[in-house]
Amino acid sequence: MRVTYDGGIRVQDGLREIVLDPSRKTPGSVVSHGHLDHLTSGGMMTPETLEVLRIRKGTGDGVELPYGKEVDREGFAVRLSDAGHVFGSAMVRVDDLLYTGDFNPEGGATCGKAVPEKVHTLIVDATYGKPTFNFPPKHEVEADLLTWLEMELADGPVALGGYEFGKSQELIALVNRLGVEVAVSDRIADLADAYVRHGIRLQYRRLSDLSDAERRDPRVYILPPGWLRPPLDESVSWLGSLRLRAAYVSGWAAFFDFSRRYGLDAQFPLSDHGDFEDVMGFIEACAPRRVYPVFSHAPDLAREVERRLRIRAEPLRGR
Ligand SMILES: [Zn+2]
Repeated sequence: MRVTYDGGIRVQDGLREIVLDPSRKTPGSVVSHGHLDHLTSGGMMTPETLEVLRIRKGTGDGVELPYGKEVDREGFAVRLSDAGHVFGSAMVRVDDLLYTGDFNPEGGATCGKAVPEKVHTLIVDATYGKPTFNFPPKHEVEADLLTWLEMELADGPVALGGYEFGKSQELIALVNRLGVEVAVSDRIADLADAYVRHGIRLQYRRLSDLSDAERRDPRVYILPPGWLRPPLDESVSWLGSLRLRAAYVSGWAAFFDFSRRYGLDAQFPLSDHGDFEDVMGFIEACAPRRVYPVFSHAPDLAREVERRLRIRAEPLRGR
């Protein structure tokens, strides 16, 4: 099989070709998950991702393929399995090739885990593909975050900022463990509603449902990062007057100081990707003959795969 990047990941075998995560609407393609740098209309995707597509883009079509069901597509046997990254995220199996998409072998509270499969060819997400990109243990970061929230809630409402799809819903699940009320932006709530329709238990209120009198009550607000500090959009300018204690949540917080740059009170390195060691362990367990790291740090990961695992690796220079 030949693997190249040209407006998407192209897998070719003789005259057969299938495109994975195309950059624009491509009938016959496969879409791994609902983050905007992967999400297009027209392809095959999990029912969950199709629902996310319609919420995020207001419209869109696609062919539903649930996890575990194998179909023939463009002459290839195609099957999706949980990528452990976000709600509905999928790894894509194409004959004896596996494309991880964005993935996390550790999984999350609102999705399963990415489980390695024995394959000949592995196309692997290299977002954290540098040897220095390792996170502190997740349970420790979660415990730190919950402790910080409990301390700060004694003085009033607190805000957490995170990406609107995936991270924010993980944060709802985490804060629900504390038993305090969570209020989220309406966009985050629209996406969380899809989780609830699929049986994932999340409890939250919409910002637009809070009365003026309720806004100052102790609760955790989960907001887009741009809403943590003024200037705020006029529709939510009242958030600025609450003088919220605020923290940013992102895997990159393990390596960069966002709190000082944006004038925030804290930051917590929770990621929906596997870190470097997770990715190396996953590759080793798949025991592929050939690896194609893709995205962000693909050249670094290719080098480490050849050096440490002695597997031929070639970076795909996508996007
Ligand atoms: Zn993603």
